[in-house]
Amino acid sequence: MESYESLLATIVPSGGETRDVFDPATGELIGKAPVQDVADLEAAIDRAEAAQVSWAALGDDERIAYLHKAADAIEASSEALAELLSREQGKPLNGPNARFEVGGCVAWTRTAADTPLPVEVIIDDESGYAEMHYRPLGVVGAISPWNWPMMISIWQIAPSLRMGNTVVIKPAETTTLSVLALVTVMNQVLPEGVLNIVTGPGRTVGDALTRSPKISKIMFTGSTPVGKRIIEASANNVTRLTLELGGNDAGIVLPDVDPAAIAEGLFWGAFINTGQTCAALKRLYVHDSVYDQVVEELAKFAANVPMGVGLEEQNVLGPLQNRAQYELVDRLVESAKASGARVVLGGDPDHDAVGNFYPTTLVADIDPHNDLVVEEQFGPALPIIRYADLDEVVKLANELEFGLGASVWSNDREQAKQIAARLQAGTVWINSHGGLHPMVPFGGAKQSGYGREFGVEGLKAVAEPQVVSG
Ligand code: NAD
Repeated sequence: MESYESLLATIVPSGGETRDVFDPATGELIGKAPVQDVADLEAAIDRAEAAQVSWAALGDDERIAYLHKAADAIEASSEALAELLSREQGKPLNGPNARFEVGGCVAWTRTAADTPLPVEVIIDDESGYAEMHYRPLGVVGAISPWNWPMMISIWQIAPSLRMGNTVVIKPAETTTLSVLALVTVMNQVLPEGVLNIVTGPGRTVGDALTRSPKISKIMFTGSTPVGKRIIEASANNVTRLTLELGGNDAGIVLPDVDPAAIAEGLFWGAFINTGQTCAALKRLYVHDSVYDQVVEELAKFAANVPMGVGLEEQNVLGPLQNRAQYELVDRLVESAKASGARVVLGGDPDHDAVGNFYPTTLVADIDPHNDLVVEEQFGPALPIIRYADLDEVVKLANELEFGLGASVWSNDREQAKQIAARLQAGTVWINSHGGLHPMVPFGGAKQSGYGREFGVEGLKAVAEPQVVSG
């Protein structure tokens, strides 16, 4: 079986500037990532542009076949990809982490291939005839973040290729090797020039990608401040955008729940990928009548979930991917402590230990406007807020600029659905949080972005609708 070391040896081009890559769990040097510049970007865009005409001309059936071959190639290298992802990103092999992420890449690629998008007949009567086609846009620029680097890149790449576009992807600086490996594996089977990668800083290479007149659409997943910069850049060429931005999802627990029964779902809703997930549960509002029991059951469950080095099979929580994120989580928990909030679990990192490990942390009896509640913590620290009034908690859930996801926890499905209708979020889950499906549209409300990925909507988002009438 291929090892991640042998995969690594195939992906980094010889020569050129590189950056040392360290394992966030152990601090070990694991490899060198290329650092490219705007000239490399321009060459990649030219390659993508040159390949696009023949890729589009292949037709849907052939592109579908190529996507299946790409999925097969990912599957064949899945263990090496998962190990590399674990070493660079930090996430453990097991649990909803590295192996799960690589499996998701396969599933999303196959679904992007197999989802039908036939020509739609809009009218066909005495008033006239019109049909809707979905044409390729051209070259799609993809910019991905470091938390789910392979899977989010696939969400951008697979539908774009299916619809006859070629792609230039720029991964996050801190997870370059993971995406480079994924692209290298896919390029074992894809035609030359169809899928291109350029590494390098977001503020130069990423910025130039968003400003290029040769790019028809930007698929961006990352923070809201960078998303706003991309919106400004898109004005130059009226570049199409799908923006998956930050989130600070609320979960609302109603009085009728069984605290022991929901503890595991609450935990994974909040702590999946050690909290470094856009649509994780980041603010938990629990009704006063069940508050103490929910906190107790959650703490009981959380205390037994193993955190450690990703390659060790027993671990399902890992380190934070980078030191800046560790420091952000640390600052927010300290602000909660200083305000008098009650730390139920964790909150006591060993700053001198090797690796970016921040312990699983639950903070109870916290002010609803504390920084740990209103800022996106993006790490393993969950604030739990007590509430008494439903209207008040809906107001609190909706008062932030974010609107990615939300959840309602109750045995009364109808009441939960009524509350869902009042929440400003792209997805509202009932009795779970954060689960995604490749056929179910996903995206944000308010400053969590615009546009939807996945399923038929996701294919349409990377195509130019064209009416043929008469
Ligand atoms: P980030 O915005 O710092 O970086 C994202 C990407 O943008 C990176 O590849 C970076 O190099 C690039 N970039 C930076 N400056 C740029 C510029 N001026 N022009 C173009 N590209 C630029 O985000 P991050 O820290 O990597 O990721 C964490 C954030 O992403 C969190 O806010 C999280 O909620 C969000 N996120 C959202 C989703 C979603 O689906 N909505 C999914 C995952 C992560």
